Amino acid sequence: MTMPPAIPFMHLTPGSDAEAIRAGIDRVIARGWFILGPELTAFEEEFAAAAGAAHAVGVGTGTDAIALALRALGIGPGDEVITSPLSAAYSALAIMMAGATPVFADLDVDRLTLDPARVDAAVTPRTAAILPVHLYGQPADMPALEAIARRHNLAIVEDACQAHLATCAGRPAGTIGAAGAFSFYPTKNLGAMGDAGAIVTGDAALAARLKRLRNGGQTDRYHHLEFGVNTRLDDMQAAVLRARLPLLPGWTARRRALAARYRAALAGAPVIVPPEREPGHVYHLFPVRSPRRAAFQAHLRAAGIETLIHYPVPIPRQPALAGVPALPCPIADEVCGDIFSLPLHPALTDAEVDRVAEAVHAFRG
Ligand SMILES: *Cc1c(COP(=O)(O)O)cnc(C)c1O
Repeated sequence: MTMPPAIPFMHLTPGSDAEAIRAGIDRVIARGWFILGPELTAFEEEFAAAAGAAHAVGVGTGTDAIALALRALGIGPGDEVITSPLSAAYSALAIMMAGATPVFADLDVDRLTLDPARVDAAVTPRTAAILPVHLYGQPADMPALEAIARRHNLAIVEDACQAHLATCAGRPAGTIGAAGAFSFYPTKNLGAMGDAGAIVTGDAALAARLKRLRNGGQTDRYHHLEFGVNTRLDDMQAAVLRARLPLLPGWTARRRALAARYRAALAGAPVIVPPEREPGHVYHLFPVRSPRRAAFQAHLRAAGIETLIHYPVPIPRQPALAGVPALPCPIADEVCGDIFSLPLHPALTDAEVDRVAEAVHAFRG
């Protein structure tokens, strides 16, 4: 029996973008300006425009983008920041990097993002901000979270690391709160060829402070006004991102089309497909749920189909967070126990989606 070709989870080698990337890298090499140069400035302008924001500030990682956004808003030691127990752990680690304390509120079981009612119940006199995570590319319920933030006078920083070009009730993800954090880690919807991130904001003063904080707190060369860190998006990565940014709308449309194909093809299959609650979803990932997850993944692996778990452990249960007291999050516990992600990236073909769906239907766990 011959095995059909494998369907890997992701595909990171450049395709139609390869030539523009090489031209961009050559441009940076020829210029000989590698940090805080014109390539970064141009990318910041182009990304801000694409994200629907007035300002973008490039930093070294998405984690630094979250931490610096909190710090620039004056959030730090003694402050609590309410966030989601289901995310890349970096969401919470970034809160800790800012010196603040993460407080976890449980999920809306359909949307798999923060449940506004549980956020409201988690507010204390120390709460300074809410950090919603637009998980898998689907924005959190921002209108409800904004109402809570207004009532309690809290800042909102959006973790939009999985939500490039997503919209929430028509508004661009990342522009709804005081600031939005993006990651350009290679697997993200817009990926660099190394680490990179950015913060978007509509507030010019906040953007100016972020530019200081990412650069050692400097105002001018060797003049350090405040305690900053060293986390810049370098010009080489900016050139890669500039080459790819024009392709992002097409890639996003392709992700949405593939997700719609999965939804149709998986009707009646023995998995739970989380519903789409927001048409502005950009499908960074396509998760499904099954109480027989391990057997399901083994079955798909045998058919040559690679799957991954996002995420196997609720953040408050990570040993790294052992010192942080946490409220129970039973929905996050349950989701982490049964969720896994099917392959979804712009280079995936319709035929591959059909093959994955057929294999899912064929599971006899
Ligand atoms: C990737 C990611 C981060 C961290 O971004 P890095 O660039 O890897 O530091 C934070 N939050 C979420 C939801 C992510 O997906």
